[in-house]
Amino acid sequence: MVAQAEAPSPTIKAVHELTTGFVEQHKEHRYGSSKPLMWWVLTSRSWVKAPITAYAFEHRDGLVLFDTGADPALVSDPNYVSSPIGRFILKKVFRFHIGPEDALDKRLEAVNLRAADVSKVVVSHLHFDHIGGIAHVPQAELLVSKAEWQRLSAPNPEQDWFLREHIELPGANWQTVEFVPTSDPLLAPFGRCYDCMGDGSMILLPTPGHTPGSMSLLVRSIGLPPLLFVGDLTYELEPLHNDQVPGIGDADELKASFAKVRELEKALPDLVVIPSHDPFASAKLATALG
Ligand SMILES: [Zn+2]
Repeated sequence: MVAQAEAPSPTIKAVHELTTGFVEQHKEHRYGSSKPLMWWVLTSRSWVKAPITAYAFEHRDGLVLFDTGADPALVSDPNYVSSPIGRFILKKVFRFHIGPEDALDKRLEAVNLRAADVSKVVVSHLHFDHIGGIAHVPQAELLVSKAEWQRLSAPNPEQDWFLREHIELPGANWQTVEFVPTSDPLLAPFGRCYDCMGDGSMILLPTPGHTPGSMSLLVRSIGLPPLLFVGDLTYELEPLHNDQVPGIGDADELKASFAKVRELEKALPDLVVIPSHDPFASAKLATALG
């Protein structure tokens, strides 16, 4: 009798999308504008609605998240943003649709997962709609890039929507990630990376531009096409392919990061790129996950 080779077991058992509400933003914000930033902030009347998405990965060594979404208190607490000028600008820039059911713990429960089981969170960047659920996972390591953490420590981080009072929570277990040189030719455009789980299945890549320390997550596991979660590097795929930068962020850095992602797409033709506020991402991910 010939022994049957056992099918290799997947490193990542399942991927879940967690929609923590919706946001409307101006067209100029999303797709860029030749007009000055304050002009469109104060005068634009065109709004585009998009999801605020986080993701959960059932890795064999633990439950890992990519971002934590928005806090429903953003809508229910009129003083969520502590500075009056911040509150004024927030209303001009965003319209939120976030209910109590959109809290991170509730969204995890909806897919039969528990916030208490989360062991790590990859925080793509420190904007409030990505860190809003960290209070639900005090036991988890919160991984943030060093450059992003440095921006938090520089003067006036609130100006860039880094709300310190919602990031520096007592007991929050923040860990800064140091990217290291990689010999993987696939990752050569990025130069450096960080192997989040130590087995190559979840690789963090520096993709600055939206914020100084924004990072993306490359997921590779048996049974899945390669997935690249890019956070807010781009809001949709077409602008990334057309080199069309949004209305905020560092245009040169954004374009350099876009080019690196396009290189990766060339090297991995079945790569699925997932932006966090892309209305088309949900269907694309569902197709990719089969
Ligand atoms: Zn952002």
